[in-house]
Amino acid sequence: MQSNTARDRLAVLAGQLYSFDEAELLIGRQPTAAAASRGRTSAFPQATTAAEFPAAVHDALALDGLLTAEEKEVRRRVRAFAESEIAPIITEYWERADFPFELVPKMRSLNIGGGTIKGNGCAGLSITGAAMATLELARVDASCATFYLVHTFLAMLTIELMGSEEQKRALLPGMASKELAGCWALTEPSNGSDASALTCRATKVSGGWLLDGQKRWIGNGTWADVVVVFARSSVDNQVNAFVVRKGAPGFTATKIDNKIALRCVQNADMLFERCFVPDSARLPGVASFSDTNKVLAISRIMVSWLPVGMAMGAYDMAARYLRERHQFGAPLASFQLMQEKLARMLGNVQAMFLMAWRLTKLAEAGSMSHEQASLVKAWNTLRGREVVALAREVLGGNGVQADFHVAKQFCDMEAIYTYEGTYEVNVLVAGRGATGISAIKPASRANQRAKQQVQA
Ligand SMILES: Cc1cc2nc3c(=O)[nH]c(=O)nc-3n(C[C@H](O)[C@H](O)[C@H](O)COP(=O)(O)OP(=O)(O)OC[C@H]3O[C@@H](n4cnc5c(N)ncnc54)[C@H](O)[C@@H]3O)c2cc1C
Repeated sequence: MQSNTARDRLAVLAGQLYSFDEAELLIGRQPTAAAASRGRTSAFPQATTAAEFPAAVHDALALDGLLTAEEKEVRRRVRAFAESEIAPIITEYWERADFPFELVPKMRSLNIGGGTIKGNGCAGLSITGAAMATLELARVDASCATFYLVHTFLAMLTIELMGSEEQKRALLPGMASKELAGCWALTEPSNGSDASALTCRATKVSGGWLLDGQKRWIGNGTWADVVVVFARSSVDNQVNAFVVRKGAPGFTATKIDNKIALRCVQNADMLFERCFVPDSARLPGVASFSDTNKVLAISRIMVSWLPVGMAMGAYDMAARYLRERHQFGAPLASFQLMQEKLARMLGNVQAMFLMAWRLTKLAEAGSMSHEQASLVKAWNTLRGREVVALAREVLGGNGVQADFHVAKQFCDMEAIYTYEGTYEVNVLVAGRGATGISAIKPASRANQRAKQQVQA
């Protein structure tokens, strides 16, 4: 243990040689008494748990410098919130597979409600600004980031882009302030990757529609007040979208238990049995499945940032742990094999950030393609998987315990790899962009379709 005087001298010396952040990293942070006790356990006093979240030391190439002042400010306030409000409590919620509802009203003060949406009480952030909010939530907890993503960039954005003015006025202000929670129901038990073949039916009746069918995996689905549901219209057999309110007769949502990833997210199996919705509940802007792409274009950008934030959090934790934990008379950080893994994680984090950042800039310029979004989503989740696996390795036994963060990130990354288009399907979209040939459908079906087109 260094004396205060020795530590102070070291701090002065480090400050002369390094930037403030680097010096802080070298000499170790000086936590407050409360914070110090928060991150310590008597069973393993050698290292600090994620309840006292590690300092952000992942920005090796000063990529924060790519952000505007406004984007930096969003990042700063969401990071402060995530570290002080989410980190101390989230492991217990994750262990219990419970959602931290107490955080929802607290999130209001962040002024990120509605993300990029302008008006109706929404924050009107730039796409990069909204991405920074997603990134910083994901650095500490991917379930909280997923709540924000599904609520904002799927449910709210579908209403904003394809709802009537009346629907927007009725729903968006309450959703922006998070008095109303939203979810987005596309996936079905029989149609996951092949989502465009969805079979949920919307039968036209006098004054409205009757919904029949099942949905699966719907995030926030057990408790959301506003459910955006996609169903095939009996009028023209095209995919339409409807808003169903919590508790509507004929609608039930059942929690999916026993997940190993995103355990705080309440995913639901949904059943619609002659569930009546009035004409006013149909979103007029959704006339076919391809309209979902307008929303997915933005939400896939946010999903591309999620693994970046998660990898940053895993790296920050690993960097602190390797300094704190000693074996063979030296900190783990002094061993070459550990440094190789740290450097590999750090390189991945920089590359992932740059991929997501460039994608976002293309979107802001209005020139992003689906193929580009799929490439970045797929590549970032692949690299993210590598980072969290390395972080898990370097923490040894504590790498499989959620208290030390990396085990939680390791498990959660599996869901990010799979949702909003699996790795494989996104890679195939990118491959189609690279070759001009689609390999998504089996050759026989694709050939049949091509033949039909020629005959027609
Ligand atoms: C935690 C979580 C949260 C989710 N949240 C939501 C939500 O809020 N709303 C919602 O609508 N959905 C949600 N989903 C559903 C998610 O989008 C689907 O799980 C995903 O699209 C994959 O569908 P599937 O699980 O049916 O897998 P499948 O489509 O059955 O795929 C299984 C495997 O086959 C591969 N595969 C499929 N087709 C091909 C192909 N053509 N070529 C090569 N390989 C292929 C896949 O890549 C995968 O590896 C969520 C899922 C999870 C796990």
